[in-house]
Amino acid sequence: MEKGILFVVSAPAGCGKGTILGQILKDEKYYYSVSATTRKPRPSEQDGVNYRFLDKAEFEKLIAEDAFLEHAQYCDNYYGTLKAPIEENLAKGKHVILEIEVQGAMQIRQLCPDAKFIFIAPPSFETLRQRLEHRGTETPEVIEKRVNAAKKELEMKINYDYCIINDILDDAVADFKSVVRAEELKISRKA
Ligand code: 5GP
Repeated sequence: MEKGILFVVSAPAGCGKGTILGQILKDEKYYYSVSATTRKPRPSEQDGVNYRFLDKAEFEKLIAEDAFLEHAQYCDNYYGTLKAPIEENLAKGKHVILEIEVQGAMQIRQLCPDAKFIFIAPPSFETLRQRLEHRGTETPEVIEKRVNAAKKELEMKINYDYCIINDILDDAVADFKSVVRAEELKISRKA
């Protein structure tokens, strides 16, 4: 059986990547890697579905056990990708999607040379700020931190293979599917 492809997706908070991936993940050919984090759950989030929510001591224990493929700190919290399910699902032929920030993505670049890197960008900073305010789950101080983090993250997009602008959702989803299809059809993959 053909191995799946590892797709690493990064986007500043508020770019709508959750909405795009929600559409993409309806297809069972994908496996979404559930990260661990020390961030507190948002009201709509469920442990084991959106993240594995851990406290700092639990997270640091997993670091010591070498359980993470990569991990990073983002806006005062730890986030990390657990190794075990990734290889297992790629071997089953599933495309694995990692939704991670840029520092973690650059670690994966070194570790997994076959991975494909997709950056999702907002049409403008104003749109990004409006989306974060509209979500209403963060304080103004956290929103400010995230907009500043987004500015730094956008400078990193040159390290990615593809950039998708999320202006109109359906177009962004179609672009994502086109990237996946092109990667599936690569001659080098069949070799
Ligand atoms: P949020 O708190 O909004 O869910 O996520 C904050 C940032 O952490 C996002 O850019 C998200 O992609 C990133 N993130 C989520 N899981 C991981 C992970 O396992 N590793 C890394 N490096 N970043 C992650």
